[in-house]
Amino acid sequence: MRVLIVEDEPRLAENIARSLRESAGYAVDIAADGQEGLFLAESNAYDVVLLDLMLPHMDGMQMLTRLRQSGQHTPVLVLTARDDKESVVALLNAGADDYLTKPFDLGELLARTKVLIRRGKGQPSPVLTIGDLELNTVNRTVQRAGRPISLTAMEYRVLEYLAHRPRAVVSKTELLEHLYDYNWEKFSNVIEVYISGLRRKLDDGSARQLIHTVRGQGYILQE
Ligand code: CA
Repeated sequence: MRVLIVEDEPRLAENIARSLRESAGYAVDIAADGQEGLFLAESNAYDVVLLDLMLPHMDGMQMLTRLRQSGQHTPVLVLTARDDKESVVALLNAGADDYLTKPFDLGELLARTKVLIRRGKGQPSPVLTIGDLELNTVNRTVQRAGRPISLTAMEYRVLEYLAHRPRAVVSKTELLEHLYDYNWEKFSNVIEVYISGLRRKLDDGSARQLIHTVRGQGYILQE
């Protein structure tokens, strides 16, 4: 998963980014003002946007409105200060999906972020089940037919993304866009390495394969 943080307080932005990277394994980009935020949100594939309201150049409300006007459906969680003049009603009516008042607990922010990602992909349950595969997105554990499977951080990220979109063809490009932040060079052959590692670990001892290749298009996770 890939998250955009639009926040002009560098320390707060970095703290949130570290928490999302370390506790959830998400790729994170940071924009320090509304203009940069809008540009990044429109030119990259984010699974959720965390948006501060009081921002230089273009405020959060304007950015949110522009984003929704351009047809972007990415879930947006607004970070509001207690004295922000925008009302919660106005924010929700402008297309925000949730909000959190500063100062907030990073654990709560993380939990709400996960809810928005799941909801955005039509997966309300925190435990994703595909056949006999079970992926727990809260504690990031995976098991197949009751057998715990130990994955590397990147293998988990690939599997988590696929599990949020079961039975859909997911291309290598889509995986790269959602698993790496802005600073990474993206090489599609790394995805093949993670997929083959996942196959080896998931299918070991099972008669049925879970990750299928659709030639020239991508991968499907299904029974
Ligand atoms: Ca601010």
